Amino acid sequence: MLTATRTVTPFRNEPIRDFSDPADRRSIEAAIARLREDLGRRYPLVIGGEKLHGAGTIASINPARPSEVVGVVDEANLEQVSQALDAATAAFASWKRTTPEERADLLFRTAARIRETKDDWNAVLVLEVGKPWVEADADTAEAIDFLEFYAREALRYASPPALTPIAGERNHAVYLPLGVGVVIPPWNFAFAIMAGMTSAAIVTGNTAILKPSSDAAVIAARFVDLLHELGLPPGVVNFVPGDGPTVGEALVTDARTRFISFTGSKGVGLRINELAAKTAPGQRWIKRVVAEMGGKDAIVVADDADLDAAVAGVVAAAYGFAGQKCSACSRAVVDAAVYDAFLAKLIPAVQALKVGDPSEAGVDVGPVVNAKAAEKILGYADVGRGEGRLLAGGKRVAGDGYFIEPTVVADVDPQARIAQEEIFGPYLAVIKARDFDHALEIANGTEFGLTGAAYSRSEERLAQAEREFFVGNLYLNRKCTGALVGGQPFGGFNMSGTDSKAGGPDYLLLFLQAQSISRKVAAQAADDLAAGMD
Ligand code: NAD
Repeated sequence: MLTATRTVTPFRNEPIRDFSDPADRRSIEAAIARLREDLGRRYPLVIGGEKLHGAGTIASINPARPSEVVGVVDEANLEQVSQALDAATAAFASWKRTTPEERADLLFRTAARIRETKDDWNAVLVLEVGKPWVEADADTAEAIDFLEFYAREALRYASPPALTPIAGERNHAVYLPLGVGVVIPPWNFAFAIMAGMTSAAIVTGNTAILKPSSDAAVIAARFVDLLHELGLPPGVVNFVPGDGPTVGEALVTDARTRFISFTGSKGVGLRINELAAKTAPGQRWIKRVVAEMGGKDAIVVADDADLDAAVAGVVAAAYGFAGQKCSACSRAVVDAAVYDAFLAKLIPAVQALKVGDPSEAGVDVGPVVNAKAAEKILGYADVGRGEGRLLAGGKRVAGDGYFIEPTVVADVDPQARIAQEEIFGPYLAVIKARDFDHALEIANGTEFGLTGAAYSRSEERLAQAEREFFVGNLYLNRKCTGALVGGQPFGGFNMSGTDSKAGGPDYLLLFLQAQSISRKVAAQAADDLAAGMD
């Protein structure tokens, strides 16, 4: 049952483990072994709290061992999509009347349970999307952070904002939920983004239909199960897996949908934005679209940078989770004065990365998520051979898994395809700049604007980067990945999205609408009000 009395402590980020402690190592190994005993389990749809079989099934496979089926998820047909929209619409009538305290309490209890069973969630991430242990632990920690942070934020938004007093009237404003939301996450932060977008939608009093990514549907199914186990009423979150162009678009275009919370690629985000802008028959609102999309993130290295730190930052940001982060560094823009020295340090560091099956310890770079992704990235390896000097990688690693060697292409023109298009793999283009001004111009020279970093020992240059480097998340003298909830609200400019700043103080507003209420008051009360006694 939902309960609502608790003392809320200030938000703190969940620590991320490095697995150097043998007890942590044993714990995750045991969790992976437990999950391997339970492979192939079927995860039904959840509509109005009921578990249902769908039109077909989607097999979620381990990209490191494609013959290993992590789970089989039911796929909704269009009638079930409609049932889910009805269930979410019906549940909204009562869920919107629950108190923010009750809703926040559910998130706090969900976070607590995930914390207690962390390595079981990590194991799913390792096997379902190929995350090395530390990356899996960071994803789970971020999911916990979103739950903890949005629970506190919902409590904050429950207090009315201060308004300017008006004589003769008593005014206040309240934040109301929007209605039925469609939540469409990507597979890469399979836990954090999926749980973050879903929990933000419901903690503000909306109901949701979660259409997970087909590459990461098992972790989503488990999360939805946990919410129900902890007392989430039926219909508040409906679990409706399916293909994007059919199930996703049916949800996006339906008149019952009030808002869409999307994170994924630029192409799909723009398509959803366009479809949602069209009014369906019977639709009574303008749909709100939050679309967080791709990046072509750069790290700028000035001639006075600490090169060891810059190389470490580039390597971590370019190859962590095999470069499959929207924030991943895919361009290193290096001042000509230190260009050769930078490459001389970079190449051995890249070649030292251990590529392998992330269910084992000590792996730096795991597989890419599926066969299609591997093919696309290898296609860019061919493009890169024509657009620069291949200094490392560029090939598939022998074996069944979707492993690609960490790749570096140097001497790349800023306008080359591999310097402009999101590749989303372990692939770095290195670009030579004449000076710092030129480097910033190159860094800003794509249609994206998500993350970026600059390394320099000069205060003046760091200040210049602050003024001129146009990205939603800018980092100075550190890597451009690893934003933390609360401290580094996340979201991009330009074609990187709507800059929603997930994990920040403005985020929940995207799931709310404010109602302003003014009441005429008697003369004495109006005088008191004007005198500030109200
Ligand atoms: P994707 O766009 O292929 O898919 C994202 C989601 O959209 C999936 O659930 C998919 O099933 C669904 N979808 C696909 N086509 C659809 C359609 N026509 N209508 C409705 N839904 C549809 O992205 P992906 O491969 O899952 O994720 C990688 C992308 O996400 C990269 O571009 C990455 O940069 C981006 N990303 C951005 C952020 C951010 O915060 N800006 C964070 C993580 C990932």
